[in-house]
Amino acid sequence: MSLKAKDINDQTKWQDLAEVLKIFDPTTSKQFETGEWRTQTPEFNESKCKQCLLCVPYCPDSCIPVVEGQRRNFDLMHCKGCGICEKACPFGAITMRPGK
Ligand code: SF4
Ligand code: SF4
Repeated sequence: MSLKAKDINDQTKWQDLAEVLKIFDPTTSKQFETGEWRTQTPEFNESKCKQCLLCVPYCPDSCIPVVEGQRRNFDLMHCKGCGICEKACPFGAITMRPGK
């Protein structure tokens, strides 16, 4: 038997879970392209960016890479499109657009 998330209750055994709900190894999230179900996409306007790095810790999915102290473009393979980074940026350097 393979349950969906909506069918899970306090009687559920882990063996009943669907494969997609099981975590077999820790720290594997980089192997999964979890950005595929995004419905909005952040757009980075580099010319407006002041490199304050404020957006970086706000991203719940660590999708804003920093290389040598500089913020780089989004990791869209893992970005969920939540829009938090757009709200966090004080300089209007991030704009959410509909679609992937
Ligand atoms: S939209 Fe959300 S998940 Fe994507 S980069 Fe911004 S804060 Fe991170
Ligand atoms: S918060 Fe805005 S200005 Fe600051 S690093 Fe991020 S995108 Fe650039």
